[in-house]
Amino acid sequence: MKKIISICMLLFFADYLFAQTIIQRDAEIEQMVKEVSPDSLRSYINTLVAFGTRNTLSAQTNPKRGIGAARNWMLQKFNQFAKESNGRLTAIIDTTTLQPDHKRVDTTIVLGNVMATLKGTDANDNRIFIISGHLDNMRSNVMDRTNDAPGADDDGSGTAAVIECARIMSKHSFPATIIFVAVSGEEQGLLGSTFMANKAKKENWNIEAVLNNDIMGSNNSNETNIIDNTKVRVFSEGLPAYETEKTAANIRALGLENDGKARQLARYIKETGERYIDNLQVVLIYRNDRFLRGGDHLPYVQNGFAAVRITEMDENFTRQHQDVRTENGILYGDLPEHMDYEYLRKNTALNLCNLANLAKGPGMPDSVKIEVKNLTNSTHLMWQPPLYGKPKGYYVLMRETTSAFWQKKFFTTSTDMRLPYSKDNYFFAVQSVNETGNESLPVVSGIAGR
Ligand SMILES: [Zn+2]
Repeated sequence: MKKIISICMLLFFADYLFAQTIIQRDAEIEQMVKEVSPDSLRSYINTLVAFGTRNTLSAQTNPKRGIGAARNWMLQKFNQFAKESNGRLTAIIDTTTLQPDHKRVDTTIVLGNVMATLKGTDANDNRIFIISGHLDNMRSNVMDRTNDAPGADDDGSGTAAVIECARIMSKHSFPATIIFVAVSGEEQGLLGSTFMANKAKKENWNIEAVLNNDIMGSNNSNETNIIDNTKVRVFSEGLPAYETEKTAANIRALGLENDGKARQLARYIKETGERYIDNLQVVLIYRNDRFLRGGDHLPYVQNGFAAVRITEMDENFTRQHQDVRTENGILYGDLPEHMDYEYLRKNTALNLCNLANLAKGPGMPDSVKIEVKNLTNSTHLMWQPPLYGKPKGYYVLMRETTSAFWQKKFFTTSTDMRLPYSKDNYFFAVQSVNETGNESLPVVSGIAGR
């Protein structure tokens, strides 16, 4: 009897939880999400694998094999989409010449990032949102530039997601700019992303988010054989790598060690992703990358931009950076037959809905502050309207200091809000939202009245 009661209570509780979740989707984004096609993703990956190897040191001028052929194909793909975009999408191979570094580059190479830019429609809005993958790949020996390396998942998956988002999104217009890029030289030491992030910093690009996709098309652990295509990980840094000394005092004073830009972006990706993609749980990992490993988001966070890594839940290490072979009955190698295109569809759509929601949304509220002139057990927040777009209002987000996620959301059309919750016991942030429900990234409150 006791057991039955507790099961009933559990069911009631589960119902109650579902009843609390109101899903409101922007129809345009919902439509774009529906267009993400597992067949398109499969065809891009098969084409990428057919170039034999995409090692950064491989042939640059062979029309059928090597990194040169792969990047030319990708450029051509972008140019096809550009034709249907009324001139708003433009594509280039952004190149730089690198000298041997006595590490993973042993000869002079021309490094090329293939990028397409979907220019924003608002001339006053210079915000940039980036989706990135890496075109290059490797065999067991990273210096082997001649033999076959399929690289279907690492990082055919991320590259295919970039192409598919460009195909669908270039038919739409957004006030802010979106860049779709597949870099080279990741396996050779994050060379392409370093080149791009350094350039962005030097030229003052207003990048608000970088979604780095690397190994996200097959969730199948080699240890457990559990195949589960309902979870994906998002890695985000804690202590900001950029100007650490300068920001550390503020972080210590306000207890903001879990509230850097990358963390705000990660929480946003979870909320938006789970709003638009059914049967996908976005698992946030509060760590810059996997244990002692790295990826193409790192050069961005080192330059002060918000950047995260999107990766499958369970990696399969018999398929990663492995020559194709059979050993003790195990087929090693990163082959297309190991891919899960339904899973890759969901993870691609996760990128798409986030890029679209960010690029459609208004800018972040400016100068978000908490009033501290008087000691009270309540909180008075104030802020300035964003520099870009027209918000219909703002959400004030709130959570307990021990909570990993925002717990409450208050809407206002004003630019200040008084809440009967103590600033001592909660974290607060503010985000702008427009008529169609597209939100900006949240801004954590600083201090006013000191
Ligand atoms: Zn990779």
